Formats: sequence, C-alpha cells, structure tokens
Amino acid sequence: MKITSIESWLQPFELTRPYTIAFDTISSVENAIVKIVSDDGSIGLGAASPYEEVTGESISVCMEALQPDSMQWLQGSDLCELPRLCRQLRETIPSAHAARAAVDMALHDLWAQHLGAPLVDVLGRAHTTLPTSITIGIMSVEEALEEADEYLGRGFRILKVKLGHSLDEDLERLAKIRENVGEHIGLRVDPNQGYSMAETERFVQETEPLNIELLEQPMKADDIKSMRALPESTRRLLAADESLHGEADALALVAPPVACGIFNIKLMKCGGVTSAMRIAAIAETAGVELMWGCMDESIISITAALHAALASPATRYLDLDGSLDLARDIVEGGFVLEDGCLRTSDAPGLGLLLLA
Ligand SMILES: [Mg+2]
Repeated sequence: MKITSIESWLQPFELTRPYTIAFDTISSVENAIVKIVSDDGSIGLGAASPYEEVTGESISVCMEALQPDSMQWLQGSDLCELPRLCRQLRETIPSAHAARAAVDMALHDLWAQHLGAPLVDVLGRAHTTLPTSITIGIMSVEEALEEADEYLGRGFRILKVKLGHSLDEDLERLAKIRENVGEHIGLRVDPNQGYSMAETERFVQETEPLNIELLEQPMKADDIKSMRALPESTRRLLAADESLHGEADALALVAPPVACGIFNIKLMKCGGVTSAMRIAAIAETAGVELMWGCMDESIISITAALHAALASPATRYLDLDGSLDLARDIVEGGFVLEDGCLRTSDAPGLGLLLLA
C-alpha cells in the first residue's frame, strides 16, 4: 500500500466552555490536521494541538513543519515500512513534536487499516476499556461544585481538579468537592507547577483524608531534584507531566531514586504513537504507571492516544477529555464514551470518518 498524497491544514475549534488553569485562560484552539491518502483510496488522519507553554511549539512552527515541501519524501512510500518511515519522520521533524505526532498517527491509522484491525489490536491490546477523568478548571467553590454535579450526572466517575493559584483556596475547594461528591468518586489534581516543595508537602499532608488519587506536576518542570527529595510515599502519588516530554526525560525520571510513580504521556509532547509506546516500555520496565493526557484536541488525536493507551500494560489512568468541549469536530467515529469509560470502536485503524 503506497502513499499517494499528503495534505495539511489549520483548523480552528471554538470551545463550548472557556477554562482557567494555573498560567492561562483558554476559549478557542487551533489544531493542524494531516490527511494521508494511499493508493487504495484509504485515508489516514492525524491532528496536532501544539501548546507553546508546555511543548515550546507554536501553531505557526507546527504548520511550518508540515509544509508540503517537508512532507514530499513520504510520497510513494510503502506503508509496510512503517517503523522506518516513523524513524525518518523523527529525523525530518526533530523538534516540532505535535506536528510529528499528527503525521505519525496518520501513518499508524493507515497501516492498521491496511492490516484490517483497530490500531490497538495491531499494537497489542492490553486493556478493553478504562474510565477517564474530566477536568474542572480553576474557579470558585460554587462553580466547581456545580460543574462537578454536571459531570457526575453525565456518568463520569473521576474528576481532575486544576489547582495552583493559591494553596489555601485549593485546599478549601478540594475539601468541599470531596464532601459534595462523596467518597466513591475518584479525585486527581493538577497544580501545573504552581507549588513550591514546601507547599507540595503541605498539600499532601492536609489532603490525606481526602483520598487524592494522584498529584500531577506540583512543582517546576525542571526541578527533578526536589521531586526526588520527597518521601517515597509522596513520589508514588506524583505524575510527571511538564517534566516528561520524550524518551530521554522518561529515562532521566526513572533513574534511582525514581522521581515519580506515574508518567503522564501526551502524544503532543512526545511526537506520536511511536515515541509514546517507547516511553510506555520504559515505564513498564521501571514499574512506573501510565496516565494518558491531552490538550484541547480533535477526536482524531484523542482516539490515537486511546489506542496507544489501551495497548500499554502499564496504563492505569486516562485523562482524555480534550475533545469533549469542542463546539464542532471535523470527524465522526473514533473513541466510544459510555458511563465515563472510554473504549475503541471495532473499525480498522482509528475508525474515523472525515466530515465534508
Ligand atoms: Mg497536567
């Protein structure tokens, strides 16, 4: 199966509900879409959602990396050589990780379609379905309780609460949320680097009765030393997000004493399914659990992340809510969300249908 054309374009998406995290308020996003067609007419799709503060890649850098001239080498390539193509892709797009992720997932989509099975099965399925968290941004206690109620009403059973503006307010809001939702709802939190080491320790101590499932990136991304200096029981709760981009970061984090118990893998940070599966292998070997996260993304890339997640034995947490607030997507199909749990469809590849 040979590639006959590669196309990319900029796709704006309005969000149905703008939200605030530790360093920004977001109301609309732009994704770069990649469409690769093969000689039997199959279409492979990819999407890039670069986020400069996290990945250092702006949407213009991303689009530049996807210019037709830079993708020309793929023309006429055989999908049977997928691993070599993905290796060459890494050489062609070394630093625009979201751009590379979009091409990498489109190639994987086409490859699995060619093999006639969902991508997760071609990669080696380890899980059938897992619950996903849904995110509550930084807002007042009243607003947070209202949003939590709405999400539980929609069937979600795990809430991810964004923190990081003020520790005292965070503690108050979390306690109220726990009181309101009851003890059977999972609560995970993400201060997005908003805490010092002392604040992180205080947070862990004071939230002990709240049964917090995991604590994502409380401290600065480059402060691995402070992560390592925390007690083992705290490190086990830590999920590295901004500290973890590609395979090299994963290796650095697992060097003893292991800096965190959980890796938050995002395709936009690491550059696609190829790198994600390599990070997943490092995690599995080191006894680190996996969480799969996202930016504000099309169903296309959320689905690609889900296929990789369900093909990784170390996967324990999904945080793949990034397409739920898009006012309108450009595809149908992809992941299936039921009672707060995500699974893939039975369709070959990523199972996506591009809308006209
Ligand atoms: Mg995060």
